[in-house]
Amino acid sequence: MDAIPEAIQNPDIKYTKLFIANEWRASSSGSTFASINPSTADKIADISEAKESDVDDAVKAAKAAFSRNSEWRRMTPSERCKLMSEVADLIERDAQYLASLETADNGRPYSLTYGDVMTVAKNFRYYAGWTDKYHGKTIPFNGDYFCYTVHKPIGVCGAIIPWNVPMIMFSWKVAPCLAMGNVMVLKPAEQSPLTALYLASLFKEAGFPAGVLNVIPGYGNVAGRSLAHHDGVDKIAFTGSNTVGRLILEAAAASNCKRVTVEMGGKNPNIVFSDFDVDRAVKLSQTAAFGNSGQVCCSGSRNFVQDDIYEQFVRKCIEEAKKRTVGDPTDFKSAQGPMISEQQLQRVLGFLERAAANGAKIVSGGNRIRDRDGYFMEPTVVTELTDEMEISKEEVFGPVQQIYKFKTLDEVIERANNTRFGLAAGVLTNDFNNVMEIANEVNAGVVWVNCYYPMSPGMAFGGVKESGFGRDLGEYAVQNYSDVKTVIMKVPGRH
Ligand code: NAD
Repeated sequence: MDAIPEAIQNPDIKYTKLFIANEWRASSSGSTFASINPSTADKIADISEAKESDVDDAVKAAKAAFSRNSEWRRMTPSERCKLMSEVADLIERDAQYLASLETADNGRPYSLTYGDVMTVAKNFRYYAGWTDKYHGKTIPFNGDYFCYTVHKPIGVCGAIIPWNVPMIMFSWKVAPCLAMGNVMVLKPAEQSPLTALYLASLFKEAGFPAGVLNVIPGYGNVAGRSLAHHDGVDKIAFTGSNTVGRLILEAAAASNCKRVTVEMGGKNPNIVFSDFDVDRAVKLSQTAAFGNSGQVCCSGSRNFVQDDIYEQFVRKCIEEAKKRTVGDPTDFKSAQGPMISEQQLQRVLGFLERAAANGAKIVSGGNRIRDRDGYFMEPTVVTELTDEMEISKEEVFGPVQQIYKFKTLDEVIERANNTRFGLAAGVLTNDFNNVMEIANEVNAGVVWVNCYYPMSPGMAFGGVKESGFGRDLGEYAVQNYSDVKTVIMKVPGRH
């Protein structure tokens, strides 16, 4: 087998400072934090840590870029479209580098991060197309008046993103934001800041004016908190945990009532009816549960399986979980890389320990993989669960497939909805009635039928209930980055 190129295994790290007004700056305090490769537990870079004054500088730079008559504000939609398309081209040009950087920083297998880069480029191209298309209406008005609406940018938008798919999250926030003519200050997660910094350099290279995009790595309770509370920020787009999402909502209320969109976690049901081919169901269900080491907000973590195929399904899941290759994420043979951190690995093991103590059965896996230095964990299958256990209610965010038995359609709908979350759901069945009932009745922002995980730039992604509100992707995201202004004009020469 061919050796893995050194450039993929150990990418050269070019940018580690704050990106403010198209310049690379050390943090005003001089402090840094370590970026760790989760496959080896080695430090790969010291990253400048944004503190309150740096956040303030970034917001000021963004505000200046958004000022009346600034280069950015005077740009035509077609010019904005060209810049965004240029960024997409540069992202594709540097695909191998960006993918290897993401794999080194986050542990997501290179075979997936390369695909992520292509998705990110597609997202920017898609939103380049929206720069001149999100228009208002002319509205019939009582009296001699002419009334129209126009969709205006909101202004300075803050984005706070998680570590699980960093480049994808970057594109979900930045692309619709800039397409609508806003400016942005983005705080990547402290566990995975490297690709956001490199992507920022491509915005400068493409010719975006200074201050339109600013990237400030730092800790959540310092830089994130400060951004969420900043009076100069007009909107915050957050993706992350439910706990922090609540803090963002509080911060908006305690400061300037900035607009907020929050994409929080999920405890997503993936429902398998017995009419569906069992082998395919096992494959799709494990993709849903184990993809990205289960560190996905929309992972199919609660796998409901109809009783007449349950035993067979569980047996096959155990066989397949044992065959799953976990290892070096730069190796194409690895289906699963490490967890993001020691802390996340311990958190997942803790859920399993408490579930087992309460009667759940770990039928495959359940352990740390100890023959490597990084944070690797066995793909794990758990049965004998009740809906009331902690593990059935909370996001585990690890490679854990939880299998539950059900009998009837009505029962499974009720149990699928027995959660405070409502992000995604899946159903595997050939029965049209089951499809329609699940699609209509399960409370989720996204429902996958006979598939799990396909996404495309034009769809909408987001949750209901405590999974949050607002949508990423598609036209719905441009709505979330614009305000509607109504203009009413007296028609000249009439009463
Ligand atoms: P997290 O909530 O701990 O952190 C998310 C971001 O918030 C990070 O950038 C972090 O630095 C920042 N943050 C932390 N404390 C903060 C504070 N007090 N004020 C402001 N910002 C703060 O989440 P995580 O552990 O990075 O990511 C995992 C979580 O994200 C999971 O719960 C997962 O479901 C969720 N997630 C949701 C989606 C979605 O679209 N719904 C997508 C990906 C991840």
